[in-house]
Amino acid sequence: MSAFPFYCDVSLPVPLDRTFTYVLAQTLRHRVQRGSRVIVPFGARKLTGVVLRTHQDQTEQKLRDVIRLLDEQPVFDDHLIELAQWIAGYYCAPLGEVFRVMAPLGGEVSQRRTYSLTDTGRDAARQLFLEAGSEVDATTQILRLLDERPLSESHLARKVEKAASIIRRLVKNGLVSMEDDPLQRDPLRSPADRLQAAFIRRTEDKLPKREREVLAYLELHPGPHALDKLEEVIKGAATATRALARKQLADVRLIQPSMSSPHARPPHRLNTSQQLAYNTISSAIQERIYRTCLLHGVTGSGKTEVYLRSIEAALAEGRTALLLVPEIALTPAVAAQFASRFGDRAAILHSAFNDTERAAQWRRIHDGDVRVAVGTRSAVFAPLRDLGLIIVDEEHDNSYKQEENPRYHGRDVAVVRARMAKACVVLGSATPSLESRYNAELEKYSLIELPERIEKRPMPEVELIDMRDEFLETRTQAIFSRRLITAIQEKLEANEQVMLLMNRRGFSSFVTCRACGERMMCVNCSVTMTYHRRDRRMLCHYCNHSEKVPSKCPKCDSEYIQFLGSGSEKVEDELHRAFPEARIARMDRDTVSGKRMHEAILDAFRAREYDMLVGTQMIAKGHDIPNVTLVGIINADIGLGMPDFRAAERTFQLLTQAAGRAGRGNIPGQVLVQTINPDHYAIRFAAAQDYRLFYEKELSFRRAMRYPPFSALANVIVRSENKEDAMTMSGEIASLLTPPPESIRVLGPSEAAVPRLKREFRYQLLLKSSSRRVLATTLHQIRHHALDRKWNATALVIDVDPMSLM
Ligand code: ADP
Ligand code: ZN
Ligand code: ZN
Repeated sequence: MSAFPFYCDVSLPVPLDRTFTYVLAQTLRHRVQRGSRVIVPFGARKLTGVVLRTHQDQTEQKLRDVIRLLDEQPVFDDHLIELAQWIAGYYCAPLGEVFRVMAPLGGEVSQRRTYSLTDTGRDAARQLFLEAGSEVDATTQILRLLDERPLSESHLARKVEKAASIIRRLVKNGLVSMEDDPLQRDPLRSPADRLQAAFIRRTEDKLPKREREVLAYLELHPGPHALDKLEEVIKGAATATRALARKQLADVRLIQPSMSSPHARPPHRLNTSQQLAYNTISSAIQERIYRTCLLHGVTGSGKTEVYLRSIEAALAEGRTALLLVPEIALTPAVAAQFASRFGDRAAILHSAFNDTERAAQWRRIHDGDVRVAVGTRSAVFAPLRDLGLIIVDEEHDNSYKQEENPRYHGRDVAVVRARMAKACVVLGSATPSLESRYNAELEKYSLIELPERIEKRPMPEVELIDMRDEFLETRTQAIFSRRLITAIQEKLEANEQVMLLMNRRGFSSFVTCRACGERMMCVNCSVTMTYHRRDRRMLCHYCNHSEKVPSKCPKCDSEYIQFLGSGSEKVEDELHRAFPEARIARMDRDTVSGKRMHEAILDAFRAREYDMLVGTQMIAKGHDIPNVTLVGIINADIGLGMPDFRAAERTFQLLTQAAGRAGRGNIPGQVLVQTINPDHYAIRFAAAQDYRLFYEKELSFRRAMRYPPFSALANVIVRSENKEDAMTMSGEIASLLTPPPESIRVLGPSEAAVPRLKREFRYQLLLKSSSRRVLATTLHQIRHHALDRKWNATALVIDVDPMSLM
């Protein structure tokens, strides 16, 4: 008997908690390994799954064959498989779905849907040929084409009019079946501006003229050339070069997206606090022990330099390192310094890359070509071997939480991964999350503090402006207080720069009828529409539905439509009016669309092409622009009213971070905060820039309410386009939880904070527990209930450690 396995157990991206066993053909037996991806049949579909085990166990069932092996070398090693299993358990997510997000290799495989005749279809087709005369209708045409061979929809659409709807009908009637066929994608088919070519060798063979020219050019000009640039030199070069690549005369590959590094700086000499931080981190790396360090450093204290040195320490030990950032496009400064320090030794995993680019970067890491990676949330899965260090920059940032399945938190996965890999993990922030700071207090994490700014620069001076007094004194509802206007004036005259934070986009936040008070609501969601003046439309910020502003009130026919509340677009507009001479840039999701837009706006601002930058929370994140001496916060109260126990924490973080943008150069900074809640502790302590006091106050509130970090929390949402269905489902969960398991408290079911979202009605149950284990078991029971009852796959949402309760 052969020593090679005959079967493999495969984890598939389906919502079931089990593996599926397939048969390995003779040719695959010695090649398929644990951690490799395979394509297998599943019902009528073909799916990509991950092999977890190969074996020769006797099995009685009739099993199907593995169709194709995608990886000769496993893409997941034992560590990543173990991590995936932890995520599936902790976040109550199907393992196959976890694997799907772990490796961004979708770009290497594309799906092609093909149609073929079923047996009944074949009979019908034959029958039709016998009957049909010279006139054949579209249906017959399609059946005839498919009788020859299986075809894609686009192919059929080219030959037959209205093919799509006919095919759907034929599928429904059981005459035609469809299959999703994964295709390995050829990088040569990428567009010219993503490919580069280099010379390999000459040939004696006769080549077409273009190819000869291109090959000669490449030989004369050594090194890689972008295909679109070649095209400018020789017309038709892009096609000719691809042909040369197929003949192995030229090397064509994807251009490695490179990090721009305009501000290459030599390493700084560490100051005393930085040196202490570095020592703690590097000793853990050298000793190969697991350690989580909370690097709590005030804004401008030089955390980045500590990160970079620590990465060097990991590399010097022969280990690898990973840097996670909230949204890389928002922190070009970090990426740039990173590039100038590590250059080609680093890979970036950028959320703005397309699938093919992401897959290429992932491969470089997997193949060991690079030993450092920087990226956003999902980079926590980068397949680095012998990982010595993970850094999570701005660890408090909400973008680390994935808001779709699997709903993991990148920071927490980083800690677990580090523990499994015996690595050091550094959580850095000026405003650590309550959870992390509390863990440091409990000595689960080592606390490292950088209490002062670099070179003892003063923290910016923060002044609160009570907008209620401002109104009483001026009797006008102005966006800017007189104090803010004067301060801006002064800075402009001194040739210094100003940042203004308005954490809401759009022009007006409500469109209402003056006569009857009706507010314009989204048709899909129970939220008000925001007016965007540039597009002259109302937009829903939850589902992106947009509409023209009605000329008459839909309820009472009155023509008095008014616009209330303000957003960043209006701030920019009013600012132009108040300072007609000033050069003003705006940064929010409406002005930043393309990948490189953030960087372009920030670079221009840094280069002083603008005097002022207005924006949403995007402008508050991590930027280091020395000439900014004034930060104005237009409306500090926006986040406070949110129905979420983290509202105060978020407000404190946002204000502190925004204030921290001021005075990072040699001139001290000033911060003006406009508010109508000057006595609220989040605003008061942010103004005082006193993390300690905020932390203590907030912690006592969390303790009293049994909110995290004093309990484990899970948000369970059921949703359906049919309100009764949503209610029934939430009732079923409620009765599962009656009486609640010991240690669990259940709040709800009740309507969610946004009761209707994207056309679905939503009900919510909030589970608080003092035991993680009991919570996990209970959530799995809920999930199994949904599976047993065959609920729609999207009806149940389980969010463990939710960051948003909406
Ligand atoms: P943080 O991330 O803590 O807000 P940064 O890492 O952006 O702070 O550092 C603030 C500034 O101080 C940057 O311009 C950085 O280049 C500079 N810097 C960092 N470390 C030193 C040092 N040891 N000596 C002098 N300048 C430093
Ligand atoms: Zn009205
Ligand atoms: Zn909507």
